[in-house]
Amino acid sequence: MKRTTHVLFAVAISGLMGLWSVNGGPFLALISGLGGVIPDLDLGKYHRRLLHNLFIVVLVYLLLEYLTRYIDFGIPYIPQALVLGWLSHIFLDSFTVRGVALFYPFSNRYYGLKKCRSNGFLCNLFFIIVSIAILVYLLRDQVIHYASFLQF
Ligand SMILES: [Zn+2]
Repeated sequence: MKRTTHVLFAVAISGLMGLWSVNGGPFLALISGLGGVIPDLDLGKYHRRLLHNLFIVVLVYLLLEYLTRYIDFGIPYIPQALVLGWLSHIFLDSFTVRGVALFYPFSNRYYGLKKCRSNGFLCNLFFIIVSIAILVYLLRDQVIHYASFLQF
């Protein structure tokens, strides 16, 4: 999937999981968006393996949990927000023809529905529409308020 699709979807999912409504919600939405792009840093030799598996997600989560225990950022759920964005990335990539090496380094098998190309227009459009629908749903009170404000 394209980077924009990953970011939008990650931010939408973080809202669905209630991360926006806790202390530091907008920051956590950003962290989730960041988690949605980090996995593609493995573009290159180990693409869709090194950073697209469950073990690296667990490892990163534990590392962040450990770090946030000693460094107080004043905002809870930073590890959860990042990992959520990261998992949403793996989920979206599982729809691409290549799939994702979910159990790497223990298995090199690629898993997923493998239905579309990662830069495919329709596939990206579909998930962008899903993300925007979630965002509009979550922000519906603000949307309604703004819409009624514009009428007068
Ligand atoms: Zn990816």
